[in-house]
Amino acid sequence: MIELDGIDVSYGNIQVIWDLDLHVSEDDAVVSIVGPNGAGKSTLLKVMSGLHPVDDGRVTVWGSDAADLDPTDIVERGFVHVSEERNLFGDMTVRENLEMGAYTHRDGLEDTIREVYELFPILEERSDQLATSMSGGQQQMLAIGRGLMAQPKILALDEPSEGLAPQITDRVFEKIEAISEEITVLLIEQHVNRALKMAQRAYLLENGRVVREDTGTGLLESDHVKEAYL
Ligand code: ATP
Repeated sequence: MIELDGIDVSYGNIQVIWDLDLHVSEDDAVVSIVGPNGAGKSTLLKVMSGLHPVDDGRVTVWGSDAADLDPTDIVERGFVHVSEERNLFGDMTVRENLEMGAYTHRDGLEDTIREVYELFPILEERSDQLATSMSGGQQQMLAIGRGLMAQPKILALDEPSEGLAPQITDRVFEKIEAISEEITVLLIEQHVNRALKMAQRAYLLENGRVVREDTGTGLLESDHVKEAYL
């Protein structure tokens, strides 16, 4: 379980997150964070991953204070973040990229690769090709597959549909649904409608503050969300 408790976050001397509370546990299937560009969604994932510090408040990762952990510890405990940039190793093959994802969990690598290939057969078909030779949708699936190689308990996906054609987006969402049957997915998405439909719980973030927390359907039906985002 990851808990953010009253956190403030800044870049230099510009504060972007204000007194924010949020939690995600393995009891959740999908938790979504929605909100406009610049609201602070990606920043929250960086904080949870140990890639950016908080100025105030506390981040707890399965009971440990994140301030005492480095990013690798956080991955080992079970929180894996697939960033918007995907950060694939372009000069490595698909399979090598997947192997890199298992850096905290070398044991059982072959079994995990097998599971990833079952979920994404295209990655097995293209296993010897360079990551850069794949289409945008395939690269997104590779980035998600590499995240799964670390055997997360919570998989955070930052804008997985970014830059993808509608049909490919549908495929990626089908895969996310399938993943959420096994592990918890924390989803940041610009497709607000979809992200809220999938979510048992959701947060609406505006200007670095949680302005609403509700069930996905509850947020979807709120006048504020309907007027501003749908
Ligand atoms: P988007 O969907 O556009 O990525 P977001 O909700 O994920 O938006 P963040 O990327 O977390 O928002 O950005 C929150 C605020 O922090 C914005 O005002 C942004 O300009 C600022 N910001 C983000 N990264 C940096 C950085 N590396 N240095 C300085 N400011 C930053």
